[in-house]
Amino acid sequence: MTSTQDRPARLLEPAPPVLLPPWHTPEREALQERARRFALEEVLPVANELDPQKGLLPESLLRRMAELGWFGITVPAEHGGMGLGVFEYCTVSEELARAWMSSASILARAQGLGTAVADPARRAELLRRSARGEWIGAIALSEPDAGSDLAGVTTRAVPDGDEWVVTGHKRWCGNAEAADFIQVLVRERDPAPGESRSRGLVNLLLEKERGSFPPGLTGTPIDKIGYHGFLTWDLVFDGVRIPRGNVVDEAAASDADGAAAERAGFLQAQRFLDTARVHTAARAVGLARAALEDSIVYLQEREQFGHPIADFQALRFAVAEMAAQIEQARAFYRQVAHLVDLGVRCDKEASMVKLEATEMAVRVTNQAMQLHGGNGYTTERQVERHWRDARLTTIFEGTSEIQKRIVSDRLLPRSPLT
Ligand SMILES: Cc1cc2nc3c(=O)[nH]c(=O)nc-3n(C[C@H](O)[C@H](O)[C@H](O)COP(=O)(O)OP(=O)(O)OC[C@H]3O[C@@H](n4cnc5c(N)ncnc54)[C@H](O)[C@@H]3O)c2cc1C
Repeated sequence: MTSTQDRPARLLEPAPPVLLPPWHTPEREALQERARRFALEEVLPVANELDPQKGLLPESLLRRMAELGWFGITVPAEHGGMGLGVFEYCTVSEELARAWMSSASILARAQGLGTAVADPARRAELLRRSARGEWIGAIALSEPDAGSDLAGVTTRAVPDGDEWVVTGHKRWCGNAEAADFIQVLVRERDPAPGESRSRGLVNLLLEKERGSFPPGLTGTPIDKIGYHGFLTWDLVFDGVRIPRGNVVDEAAASDADGAAAERAGFLQAQRFLDTARVHTAARAVGLARAALEDSIVYLQEREQFGHPIADFQALRFAVAEMAAQIEQARAFYRQVAHLVDLGVRCDKEASMVKLEATEMAVRVTNQAMQLHGGNGYTTERQVERHWRDARLTTIFEGTSEIQKRIVSDRLLPRSPLT
């Protein structure tokens, strides 16, 4: 009789055949140092002042980030960007998130987002604007009834002459009002019988003025418990008109008639989410670091039983565990960022690192609050902000359950129930 051990399931595929990355190059260390200094000196004081009032990222801070080139870290140098990779993008983002998660999140609304239009000259112009922080967008994928199940998007785009007419309801669109554009995932047709439910979805580029909504679009801000710095919107599209040429994706950029765009619409949303998931892991590491660094200071200041509480072994061990978890998550996100930069398929790894790093950030910020005792449960200390922001990271960019589903679907035959 053959036992399962004679034919063991291959739980983990061999690591992709890539060289070990030279993580500690002098250039990367210098970039990280620059980002760290900026985050602590220029972002943290603003966060401490504005977050308690649910204030928005100030224009002056965005301008400084633009001067440093951070809206174009991954934009090619010939288009005015820094010409670097997801690795560097995540490195800077970890540092910014250590100060204020929203400042790291706004970077994701540039980096060449909303530039994959068919006309090469226009694309080049948008890339230059993106790199300068003058083309900062918003992404409208989710809907009230289509969150985890993105293939369930029902917002419709109907062709009318040389325009699309868009009608539907989007939810959770961060930065929508302040954006220069909104990239909207819409259904252009129903899938044919036997086709995947994701067929018929395309991404459209809605250009707009910063600070307002175009005719036919109504936005209502959603009152969140954290992630202040920019607003998150509920959007109702009632006959919003978008030029037919404003289909955005890589396929459209090389296929002027846009026919391939439909095939690629859903896949593009997925590719976008892969990079977004590594970026979320980096932000989660930044938040956990913030909680740990604040705790290390607090433990040495606070005295009980005649000793700094840093002398109590239980608390020292908690610090050690927090630090170890952070280092582990950082090493993992750097590895996955490196794979993304190499163009290696890594959707499974992107899901794994998003899952692990964000769950780690929830644990570590929660532990940090415990280490602060009663003072942790006040708005007088920053640890409550790190905890509130970390709590979101297991929900957006695909929940932890969805990441587990993606990973398990690669390890087991797909279940009819998922
Ligand atoms: C503050 C904030 C900002 C956001 N920003 C944006 C944005 O800018 N643009 C955008 O498009 N979206 C954005 N989102 C939306 C976000 O991506 C979704 O909230 C997320 O994908 C989950 O969708 P949902 O909220 O509809 O939850 P649901 O999909 O309804 O999930 C509810 C619960 O069911 C679980 N679940 C669902 N399906 C399964 C399954 N098959 N197996 C196991 N468990 C399952 C989920 O894990 C979760 O626990 C944002 C969300 C928030 C809260």
